[in-house]
Amino acid sequence: MASYFGTYGIRGKLDLLTPEFISEMSAAFGTHLGGGTVLVGTDTRTSRKMVKNAAIAGLLSSGCEVIDLGVVPSPTLEFEVKRMGAAGGIIVTASHNPPDWNALKFVGRDGIGISKEKGETIEKLFAAKRHRPLAWNEIRDSARCNSAISEHLAEIKKHIKSSAISGRKPFLILDCGNGTAGLFAPRLFRELGCRVITLNAQPDGFFPGRNSEPTEANIADLIACVKALHADMGIAWDGDADRVIFVDERGGYIWGDKSFALCIRMKLREKKGLVVTTVATSDVTKETAEKGGGKMEYVKVGAPYISEKMLALNAVLGGEEVGGVVWPEISWGKDGLMTAAKIVEEMCASHKPLSSLISSLPSYFNAKSKAECGNKDKGRILEGIRKEFAKEKGAKAITIDGVRLNFKDGWVIARASGTENYFRVFAEAKSQKRADELLAKFKKKVEQIIARV
Ligand code: MG
Repeated sequence: MASYFGTYGIRGKLDLLTPEFISEMSAAFGTHLGGGTVLVGTDTRTSRKMVKNAAIAGLLSSGCEVIDLGVVPSPTLEFEVKRMGAAGGIIVTASHNPPDWNALKFVGRDGIGISKEKGETIEKLFAAKRHRPLAWNEIRDSARCNSAISEHLAEIKKHIKSSAISGRKPFLILDCGNGTAGLFAPRLFRELGCRVITLNAQPDGFFPGRNSEPTEANIADLIACVKALHADMGIAWDGDADRVIFVDERGGYIWGDKSFALCIRMKLREKKGLVVTTVATSDVTKETAEKGGGKMEYVKVGAPYISEKMLALNAVLGGEEVGGVVWPEISWGKDGLMTAAKIVEEMCASHKPLSSLISSLPSYFNAKSKAECGNKDKGRILEGIRKEFAKEKGAKAITIDGVRLNFKDGWVIARASGTENYFRVFAEAKSQKRADELLAKFKKKVEQIIARV
C-alpha cells in the first residue's frame, strides 16, 4: 500500500495533489471521522482554492458537514476545532515550503494533527475506496465562517497581560512573509498597544517578499530594519504562522530553542508541570524547565507527537527547536501568534531588552552536519548505528528517534531525515570544542556504518 502521510499530513506538488487525489483522500478522512462537522482553512498559496474545493467535495461526499474558515493561520483552525468541538479539520498549507507546494494537514477530533502512524488508517480507507456511498438526501451542507481570526485573537488576548504591554508601547517590526500572519499579527499587536511597522504583510501566494521559512538568511530585510529603525524586536512567521522567529533589539537572530526556553520559564512561573519537546531539541530547554521546577519529557520529531504526549500527560507546555510552541490553554497546535504575544509580554513585564532575556538563559554550543546515504536502506543503517553507539561507555542511549547518546558533558544524536537521503548528526555541549569533538567522532561512525551497508 502506498504511503502518503508525513509527520503531519500529506505534502507535495500539484502532480501528487490532483483534484481526484485530494477529494478521495478527504472522503477517506471523512469516512474515518464517521461524519460530523469538519473545518477547512487555507494559507495564501495560489493553489489554495483548487485544493480546498476538492477537499470540501470529498468531505461532503462522505457525509460530513463543512465549515469553510477561508484564509487563516493554521493555529486558528486548530483553535477552532478545539473551541467548537468539531469532528476534525483540514488545513490546506505547505507551511514553509516553496510556493509551488501545497499540503493537507488533517486535524483529528481531539484537535491534534494526524501523525504518520494514525494516517495509515486513512490510507487504508483511501486504498480500498471504502467510502460510504451516500443517498442524494444524505449529503450535508457547507457554510462560510468569517469570524475565526477574531475569535482566536480574542482568546489570545485573554491569556496576555495586556496592561504590561500597553504601558510600555514597544516598537515592533513584523515580517509576515506574505503568509497568513499578515491577516492576524498587525491587528493583534496594534490592539495590544504596540507601535507596529510591517514587512510583507500582504498575503500573496507568490511570496514576493521572501521565502516563507524564517531562516536568518531569509529575514535579512527584517534584521536590517530592526537595526536601522532601533526597534525593540523583530518578529517573523512562516507561511502558516505556526512557527515564529525573533530578532532582538541589536538585530540578533534568536534560534527557536531559545525563544521556546523563554516560554518555558514564563509558563513554569505560573504553573509547575511537565514540558514536552523532541529528542533533538537543545538542552537549553531541559535545563530551563528543571530550573523552573518542571520536568522535560521527550518525543520523536514531529508536531503531532508533541501534542499527543501533552494531552496524555497533561503537560503545561510543548514545543520544538524550529520555533513552534504549543499552548494547551489555546489549542493542541503550535501557535506562532500566541508565542509572539507571550514573548512581547515577557519583554515588557520584565523591563529588559530581548537580548538580555536571551543571555540570561543557560548557554550551550552546538555543531551539526549530515551524512549522505544515497538509496541505501535507512532501517539497516539505523540498526547499525544502534549497535555501534551502544558500545559507547559512560553514555546513556535514548532511542525514541534515531539514537541519542547523553554524556556527562554533552550529547549527540544521529537520526534519518524524513524526506531526504541523509542522516542528520547533531551535537551539543557546554563548550564549542566539546560539541565539535562529539560531532566529528560520531559523524565518522555514521559514515562508516553507511559505507558498510
Ligand atoms: Mg508552519
